[in-house]
Amino acid sequence: MTHPAAPPNPDALDTPSLDPEDWGALRDLGRRMVDDMVEWMSTQRERPLHNPVPAEVAAGFEAPLPRTGEGAEEVYGAFRREVLPYPHGNTHPRFWGWVVGSGTPMGMLADMLAAGMNSNSGFGDQAVVHVERQVLRWLREAVGFPLEGGGILTSGCSVANLSGLTVARNHRAGRDVRNRGVASGSGALRVYGSSETHSSVHRACEILGIGRESLREVPVDDGHRISIAALRERIARDRAEGDVPFALVANAGTVNIGAFDDLEAMADVAEAEGLWLHVDGAFGALVALSQDLRAMVRGLERADSVAFDLHKWLHVPYDAGCVLFRDKGLQTETFRMSGAYLQKFESRLATGPDNLMDMGLQMSRGFRALKAWMMMRHYGFDRLAEGIERNVEQARYLAAKIDATPHLERMAEVPLNIVNFRYRPDTWDSDDPGLDELNRNLLASLHQSGVAAPSYTTLDGHFVLRVAITNHRSRTEDFDTLIDWLVEEAPRHTVTAIR
Ligand SMILES: *Cc1c(COP(=O)(O)O)cnc(C)c1O
Repeated sequence: MTHPAAPPNPDALDTPSLDPEDWGALRDLGRRMVDDMVEWMSTQRERPLHNPVPAEVAAGFEAPLPRTGEGAEEVYGAFRREVLPYPHGNTHPRFWGWVVGSGTPMGMLADMLAAGMNSNSGFGDQAVVHVERQVLRWLREAVGFPLEGGGILTSGCSVANLSGLTVARNHRAGRDVRNRGVASGSGALRVYGSSETHSSVHRACEILGIGRESLREVPVDDGHRISIAALRERIARDRAEGDVPFALVANAGTVNIGAFDDLEAMADVAEAEGLWLHVDGAFGALVALSQDLRAMVRGLERADSVAFDLHKWLHVPYDAGCVLFRDKGLQTETFRMSGAYLQKFESRLATGPDNLMDMGLQMSRGFRALKAWMMMRHYGFDRLAEGIERNVEQARYLAAKIDATPHLERMAEVPLNIVNFRYRPDTWDSDDPGLDELNRNLLASLHQSGVAAPSYTTLDGHFVLRVAITNHRSRTEDFDTLIDWLVEEAPRHTVTAIR
């Protein structure tokens, strides 16, 4: 058997590598980058929270494919002029929109080290695999999961939820999903979560091939917690119709108000019904770090899988999330790869403590664990917990302040770190349809001012301003600044809205 191959072209052999000719100049530039970024990070409070991307800057990003390169200085100059001045604002002390973490200087430096090593952490005898295993073990300990369980770092909680539900589906669907697919058994697969479940779970159901209607949205009680009676009832009804329930998704910290489902009760239902219990604890699961708050996640340790973010309330720089599994064996049974080029081979390079590529959705994967590991060691879990507790106290402070301020109306209870409210002048009825527009305009002005950034949601049909505090840079005075701005500016909006 012959294997024909083209002869080499001598001109294309040994052209220059991508390393610099002048390492000294690169070193100088790198030092300047570190200086500049430390300066930028340490002066955020002095800058407006957000500057919109100017049209001419945006137009610059339409430039054609660069065939020839530019100097490192030029490219760095472009970053300084065209990228750095226009962030979303989430590292600022008064950014409280959506649920977004604020990053750390140690995380920034660690990311540079990780990029320098350029490790593919998918497998092999390399310390990076040990680093990720250790991070996962610490996280299992922190949230009270079995130390010998499984887990994997992911890009965020969306992929963590998808990963958890993938294992749930493969092991509780009553059919051979890996080989024969979801349609190979009889009965439609069903997942149960409350009506407050995050939309990443809906998307996970779409990707899993079971469709978003498979996610049964169970009503919540007054506290935005899943109604356990309604949950049992829905499962019974579905079973009676021949459907196949396989998983429950419990919320530990709902995205709207930060409510916690009763995890013990959910675990009881899961046990009685033979269902997988997955917890979406994107930010809320981390209250397990705090002595004072831990009771909110009682029962978490009974879950089969829990997903949460490191880039939100642990402030690991984007992106970083994780999913933990009670049973590591089920995790690898779900994700194990099969190529001949990936089989076990007993050499130093091919072995290692864990094949991380067999434990999640990615094969090649970066060294996401380093920034988490260095931050965990540097700050320690007590200090990380303190940051969480401080934010919860700040939410209580803000709620009290809103309650004491005329014309500001709180729109939900504050179980954790999220405060929902709106502006309602005395003369406006609470169902006045104009209130939504008034509050939209008010929030748009606030964003435009660069003073502070709450986001928004809809509660009971009303548009509300939503302050979600996952920010280690916020101080009490920052919430005073928000209230002062509203007291000063909101009345002007009344006039515009009436007109
Ligand atoms: C943010 C969030 C998610 C999605 O996490 P990403 O890291 O953005 O992918 C899922 N669930 C809840 C409750 C969230 O707050």
